[in-house]
Amino acid sequence: MIVMTPQATQAEIEAVRERLETTGVHVVVMPGELTTAIGAIGDPEGVAELGLEGMHGVDRVVPISRPYKLASSELSHFEPTIVEIDGRRVGGGDTFCLIAGPCTVETREQTMTVARAVQAGGASMLRGGAFKPRTSPFAFKGLGVAGLEILSEARAETGLPVVSELLDAQYADVMHEHADVLQIGARNMQNYALLEVAGKLGKPVLLKRGLSSSLDELLQAADYVLKEGNEQVMLCERGIRTFETATRFTLDLGAVPWLKLHSHLPVIVDPSHAAGRRDLVLPLARAAVAAGADGIIVEVHNEPEEAICDGPQALPTEGFAEYAEQVRRVAEVAGKQLTAV
Ligand code: PEP
Ligand code: MN
Repeated sequence: MIVMTPQATQAEIEAVRERLETTGVHVVVMPGELTTAIGAIGDPEGVAELGLEGMHGVDRVVPISRPYKLASSELSHFEPTIVEIDGRRVGGGDTFCLIAGPCTVETREQTMTVARAVQAGGASMLRGGAFKPRTSPFAFKGLGVAGLEILSEARAETGLPVVSELLDAQYADVMHEHADVLQIGARNMQNYALLEVAGKLGKPVLLKRGLSSSLDELLQAADYVLKEGNEQVMLCERGIRTFETATRFTLDLGAVPWLKLHSHLPVIVDPSHAAGRRDLVLPLARAAVAAGADGIIVEVHNEPEEAICDGPQALPTEGFAEYAEQVRRVAEVAGKQLTAV
């Protein structure tokens, strides 16, 4: 939409119309009481390149259509996308998934213990990082390929599909071999080359929102994966940076219904990284489910006090079944069944 100044002449309005028509967009001139607005229906990128802001009589150019295309529910994709992982359906409004496991794979024994506990408690999938993005380069960065092999063993025993972070394109093949869902971490949400790699691998992707990213940016990041022909994308709200420091991050619960409204992709919420402490994890998870989330991803540890990474926010294995039951009850009220096989 091009808004003309109140002083714009008829000739200036015509000049804008003519320039718009060179791109093939459909032009509608709407004279108002004070100003004239000119609607341009069609390719927004082509219009953006015309430099209309610099023309005489133009007050401002206001984009009306959304910047995200493939992730949008606005253009042609009105039906919700259902991501299917080894028989577990995520999205669509009648199912709910619970992804649980350690922040990071530390040892075989720790991972197997946690995997067995979350499976017994009714989890849909197992999470666990083998490659960890750490704020400090001196912190534990994960067991790497050895960690992925442990996760594969846990899947073989429990039957739970594995969600693990793709941190670096050089490990794409080994991640493809061992993980059922590729997580793109918050810090990599805008690593566009990595998003394209994840899109090309063709596996379901769990795309986390960047620490300081807007929802528009999250959906445009999703477009990078979708444009590679990979439709199996789940969005994840995991808390954002705000002035509030009482919680580790501020869980943006408004993001859940907003994303459900503007996108066809399933929305998962990570209460663990947002909370930073375990006593907030259940209430945040319940709130997320009530707000319409299609699933929860939560951290669990058999010895949270000894955990190498994110211990304070990890739920203890012995409390997991009760946690899952509480979350399941809210999901039931929202008309959703826990997805598991
Ligand atoms: C994680 O899930 O372990 C993780 C590092 O999350 P985020 O990228 O959201 O910080
Ligand atoms: Mn973590």
